[in-house]
Amino acid sequence: MRYDLIIRNGTCVLPWGEVSTGIGVRDGRIASLEIGSGDEAAEVLDATGLHVLPGLIDAHVHLRDPGDAAVESIPTGTRAAILGGITTVFDMPNTSPAITDDATLRWKQDYASAQSYTDFAFYVGATRANTGALAEYETRAGVCAVKVFAGSSTGDLMIEDDRGIEAVMRAGRRRVAFHSEDEYRLQARKASFHAGMPYDTHRIWRDEECAFLGTRRIMALARSTGRPAHVLHVSTAEELEYLRDFRDVATVEVLVNHLTQVAPDCYERLGGLAVMNPPIRDRRHHEASWAAIRDGTVDTVSSDHAPHPLAAKRKEWPACPAGLTGVQTIVPVMLDHVNAGRLSLSRLADLMAAGPARVYNMASKGRIAAGNDADFTIVDMKKRRTIRNDWIATPCGWTPFDGMTVTGWPVATILRGVAVMRDDAVIGPPRGALARFAW
Ligand SMILES: [Zn+2]
Repeated sequence: MRYDLIIRNGTCVLPWGEVSTGIGVRDGRIASLEIGSGDEAAEVLDATGLHVLPGLIDAHVHLRDPGDAAVESIPTGTRAAILGGITTVFDMPNTSPAITDDATLRWKQDYASAQSYTDFAFYVGATRANTGALAEYETRAGVCAVKVFAGSSTGDLMIEDDRGIEAVMRAGRRRVAFHSEDEYRLQARKASFHAGMPYDTHRIWRDEECAFLGTRRIMALARSTGRPAHVLHVSTAEELEYLRDFRDVATVEVLVNHLTQVAPDCYERLGGLAVMNPPIRDRRHHEASWAAIRDGTVDTVSSDHAPHPLAAKRKEWPACPAGLTGVQTIVPVMLDHVNAGRLSLSRLADLMAAGPARVYNMASKGRIAAGNDADFTIVDMKKRRTIRNDWIATPCGWTPFDGMTVTGWPVATILRGVAVMRDDAVIGPPRGALARFAW
């Protein structure tokens, strides 16, 4: 047989386990998992000693576009993503202007189709004004879900009250993604703190109950309306325990930062570079997050890549904005966790490929299987590297993992059959397309 691309001699992470096999690609799709010595291809990639994962998806990034290109944009952020082994990103709507209406939606479809290095999906932000249009907006090309900021946002994009959230849940039928911190409790507690307090104050202000109360409210509405919810960045032991009883209406995202950093150490070491929402918490929650990875409670792991200028992040608390870069570092950091024995490569593929595909109902991604898009993240599990700010392609140029030595590194990113990154070098122009969904 003749293929466009054959990946030979790799250990492939298939849905049914790790298998040493070749993969044949034709017309951007996986054509065969049985490659013989007589099969030929225009391009052969020798993956001896390497693992071939399904293309890994970062289903939660903020690429700030439109916004401030000196911090991040769709081309720079997706270029950073392919350098880090990511083949598809799902971008959040809280840009300037926000993605909440027909004009901004169409703009994002056209712009991402032309300028994204990864395949691309995006959230539509729910507002009080657009609630009636969401059932239609959620069916547009490239849209992965409606996103509701039930807390921790500004202006139009916040819907903090049960009536408003219920109206969104009754509009449309796809799974809705939630930032669930309870806005009323956040505001009520704010007065107890003042400027210049230690950065660790961030997690005391936005305490466990802010997150847990918000999640309980969302779950009550999900049950009463029957509308499924994806609870983003679950950060407390209490929520993880609670959500196990809501598998009928809820899926669960955990962030790589909550799996990697622990308070108070991270605030002492990193200052404002550890400040994000929901906050990085203490060891009890960190351990509960890993337990929830091991027992299957967690469906997806994402970065919540949310860049800010370094000068802003160095301001004192609470003037330093919340949010950390992460789309380029999530794969190396998670591979290091695999090498440390915290999860298997198969579970990583489940959390970052099959998981997002299942939660958001992607049409042709998430698993290495015949007919699916030929997206692969090829990794060298033995490669030892130190993550440095100067490797970060995002214009703001910093990572909270600067100086962290990891074992395990993405050495090639293959997008629909084309190598777009090899050995830390981006190959060719942006070739991303809008990701497809089925409902
Ligand atoms: Zn976010």
